[in-house]
Amino acid sequence: MNSATLQLACDLIARPSITPDDAGCQDMLIERLQAIGFECETMVFDDVTNLWARRGSAAPLLAFAGHTDVVPTGPLEQWHSNPFEPEIRDGMLYGRGAADMKSSIAAMVTACERFIEQHADHRGSIALLITSDEEAIAINGTVRVIETLEARGEKIDWALIGEPSSQSQVGDVVKNGRRGSIGAKLVINGIQGHVAYPHKVDNPIHRAMPALHELARHEWDQGNSFFPPTSFQISNINAGTGVHNVVPGHAEVLFNLRYSTEIDAHKIMETTRAILDKHELDYQIDWSISGYPFLTPEGALVNAAQQAIMQHAGITPSLETTGGTSDGRFIAPTGAQVLELGPVNESIHKLNEHVNIDDLEQLSKIYESMLEKLLT
Ligand SMILES: [Zn+2]
Repeated sequence: MNSATLQLACDLIARPSITPDDAGCQDMLIERLQAIGFECETMVFDDVTNLWARRGSAAPLLAFAGHTDVVPTGPLEQWHSNPFEPEIRDGMLYGRGAADMKSSIAAMVTACERFIEQHADHRGSIALLITSDEEAIAINGTVRVIETLEARGEKIDWALIGEPSSQSQVGDVVKNGRRGSIGAKLVINGIQGHVAYPHKVDNPIHRAMPALHELARHEWDQGNSFFPPTSFQISNINAGTGVHNVVPGHAEVLFNLRYSTEIDAHKIMETTRAILDKHELDYQIDWSISGYPFLTPEGALVNAAQQAIMQHAGITPSLETTGGTSDGRFIAPTGAQVLELGPVNESIHKLNEHVNIDDLEQLSKIYESMLEKLLT
């Protein structure tokens, strides 16, 4: 156990912070951050504990963002070691949260410690925005902290999220945006009846199929240089009473679109409605938007990340917007530049989650270099 980052990552993994329980992780961070001059503010919203820690009051503000909660372990007997007893085997650190994302949080803290030792009077401010509600429903986490900061006029200029963005080595992929996500529950109405009397029924499954086919084949956009084309996916279809001889009265369909910056939620809803109407369906549709797309173009934050990665990993990162949503969707609308840079994501949410221990120190050094480039 030679590195401070590894030690802190182990201490965090040893706390079973299954979402949304923080399990005392943030108290450990507060102790470390207060010692180097951060003012720490715990923000509790319902059952979720969040931490806003800030050092300095001047602009610009660089905020590291992350989460202390982890996803459930899955079957314990299939783990080779206890997921909440960190263990090092063959140069890898094993434990739930090792990659997503307790190692990144440890790397942020140790990067700040070394940076402040060298540059106690750095320009601007440093903050850590840590939530324990990222993996679950994410309604009392980052989004509420951002609302609080906005209400009192506190502006984040650069947000660096420690989500595991890397593919096969630290820094090979940096996420500079995310697709939007919009889902819908569609109910198509028909008339229930006996299959032997087709003139007395109106089969909602038959009515649904051509319309769903058209939605699935529709070209929503062609994407652009940062985003793949918008994709439409049906995730559930439910209809029927479970017997052969009854035509059901309605069919229920759930679908989701991951969308690029070439289209917006309003246009998606309008196009969907036009297609459904063209097929003369009797339907209700309920939409839910779980994230708007965002993009951080080349600028101070992207440049700092590229230079720091080149310096410590010797590679040029590729900028991507793929993958699921992240808490960046709550920070980007404030006008902040948002970037995700963290460890290799190959084992996240899986059994025997792990991270290469050499990657921990490398990540911490990359974060430290970014602090130097942006705040000195
Ligand atoms: Zn995560």
